[in-house]
Amino acid sequence: MSEKPEKLIDKKGCRLDGRKLDELRPIKIEVGILSNADGSAYIEQGKNKILAAAFGPREMHPKHLSLPDRMVLRCRYHMAPFSVQERKSPAPSRREVELSKVIREALEPSVFLDLYPRAGVDIFVEVLQADGGTRCASITAASLALADAGVPMRDLVVACAAGKVEDKVVLDLMDTEDKVGAADVPVALMPNLNAVTLLQMDGILTPEEYEEAVNLAIEGCKKIYALQKEALKTKYMPVKQEEEVEE
Ligand code: ADP
Repeated sequence: MSEKPEKLIDKKGCRLDGRKLDELRPIKIEVGILSNADGSAYIEQGKNKILAAAFGPREMHPKHLSLPDRMVLRCRYHMAPFSVQERKSPAPSRREVELSKVIREALEPSVFLDLYPRAGVDIFVEVLQADGGTRCASITAASLALADAGVPMRDLVVACAAGKVEDKVVLDLMDTEDKVGAADVPVALMPNLNAVTLLQMDGILTPEEYEEAVNLAIEGCKKIYALQKEALKTKYMPVKQEEEVEE
């Protein structure tokens, strides 16, 4: 494990990776990169590298898990053994079971589940490299994978965390800030509907700091939302143009 750094924020207000307090890590998003999934997306957020794949809507297996009035959304969050410094066991950990549930619950409100009774949609998230904030980056990628699979949705879901590091509220914590810092507040948002679908808090904040962190995370979500839409356009605008030429 890397040593605990003495200072996470320097005198000029710069963080360990040179970011300002309210700055996101560099983000790269691609949609539709897996040919065997119905929909897929890849995100790099700082050192995080995460793949999401979606299958469905399709017949539910096993059938007894299907619901008569709506579609079932299933999600599996998994960290590759090589995704962290010390080899992680490939078997599902308690944390992965919890994050699978958290990601599913953050995505569910965005999907028109009642359009597909008895059907199922599966999302698989593979964390190839982790550096803090993987639940948020996973939600951002998984929502794009659903959109790429053509699942009808109210809005995309985008997620970002803010937190407290050395008495300062900062945006988009990386691993060291997450572990050494005082608090972490992951937020998922449907920006067009202005609806929060996930709100967690790990650590201790004053009510004022909490409000500042939530607002900062929402601002971060809105910036990432623009990148999500760009990634969808990059894949689908050429398709639309080709169709127009054929007509
Ligand atoms: P999130 O990734 O959403 O912030 P956590 O707060 O649980 O979720 O984890 C923070 C970070 O801790 C992860 O992003 C990852 O970098 C690191 N981490 C998680 N599990 C392990 C592990 N088994 N070994 C080493 N580092 C881990």
